[in-house]
Amino acid sequence: MFRHDSLLACYAAQEKSSKGRLTKESRPKNRSEFQRDRDRIIHSSAFRRLVYKTQVFVNHEGDLYRTRLTHSIEVSQIARTLAQSLNVNEVLIEAMALAHDLGHTPFGHAGQDTLNKCMQDFGGFEHNLQSLRVVDELESKYAEFNGLNLTFETREGILKHCSLKNAQHLGELGKRFIERQQPGLEAQLVNIADAIAYNHHDIDDGYRAGLITLDQLMQIDLFHEPFSKVKEKFPKINERRLMHETLRRMITNVVNDLVTNTECMLKKLNPRSIDDIRIQKTKIAKFSENINAEHLELKKFLHSNLYKHPRVVEMTNQAEIMIEKLFERYMSDYKALPEDIQDFLQEETDNARARKISDYIAGMTDRFAIAEYERLI
Ligand code: MG
Repeated sequence: MFRHDSLLACYAAQEKSSKGRLTKESRPKNRSEFQRDRDRIIHSSAFRRLVYKTQVFVNHEGDLYRTRLTHSIEVSQIARTLAQSLNVNEVLIEAMALAHDLGHTPFGHAGQDTLNKCMQDFGGFEHNLQSLRVVDELESKYAEFNGLNLTFETREGILKHCSLKNAQHLGELGKRFIERQQPGLEAQLVNIADAIAYNHHDIDDGYRAGLITLDQLMQIDLFHEPFSKVKEKFPKINERRLMHETLRRMITNVVNDLVTNTECMLKKLNPRSIDDIRIQKTKIAKFSENINAEHLELKKFLHSNLYKHPRVVEMTNQAEIMIEKLFERYMSDYKALPEDIQDFLQEETDNARARKISDYIAGMTDRFAIAEYERLI
């Protein structure tokens, strides 16, 4: 047993109850199995590429906006706080958070939707499944296995959603989607930490970019209350500090609600192991009804006012064209691809070729995709 395990809640993910790695390896000496997962993720090339991938704003639009990398670090920060508060596995949750967006295409959601359209005849494209593909297959640095050979628990947290069709090919990992069960508590929490992180940092980025206004934000319940409190307490505060003080209070409020409500759920259920959490039909980690409704309101607000803002839509449209044209070009002209991929493509079926091209495009950073588009089209 790793030395921290005995201090965790009985329903936390623990090394002794881990379902292990796909390829057996000897135990690490100076760190836990989950620390090894986290360290492999940090050393992966997919992780480094996150710095040049869009969250909402394309990387070259400004240096202060979130990228996939800073987003992942913010998710990890929130998730670790949640893990500590609920006494579940903090190292595991950090590994999940840092890896959760590894499969994201360039240009955020626009990129992934377009790639999914391009791949319709070849099995489609799901970004969560792609994150799993990155850690299971695509990273190619280790001598004895493809991917990073992570533990079941980390992979369970990375695979947030999965279509039933694809779940059938995932063995033990796909089982919960077919049997409508839940992942462990760490995976449930990291999923919500993701939503908390983007909802709040997108307000920050959107406001700074001038795409959403204070008047609009004041209509949001989650925003209105902390904003007024800060204003009352610091009447002379400047706008930059006012916004930050509001946002940090907003995050604290939803995190506190999530912890309290989840503790309440745990008390009712009294789980004795991680499997007691997994066999549930519904999630254990959730907001109270009230905060859940307000969090949804915020999400909808961002959807209609930020993600559908003409300036963001313009970027989205350009991204769609770039991804579509690159896919078409590579499919019709393999010579446009790097040599190591060309060799593979000659002998393969249409599906395998399309998948290889989709992996190649998904792995691109925004700026590399733009450069490829300019070079080829
Ligand atoms: Mg995310």
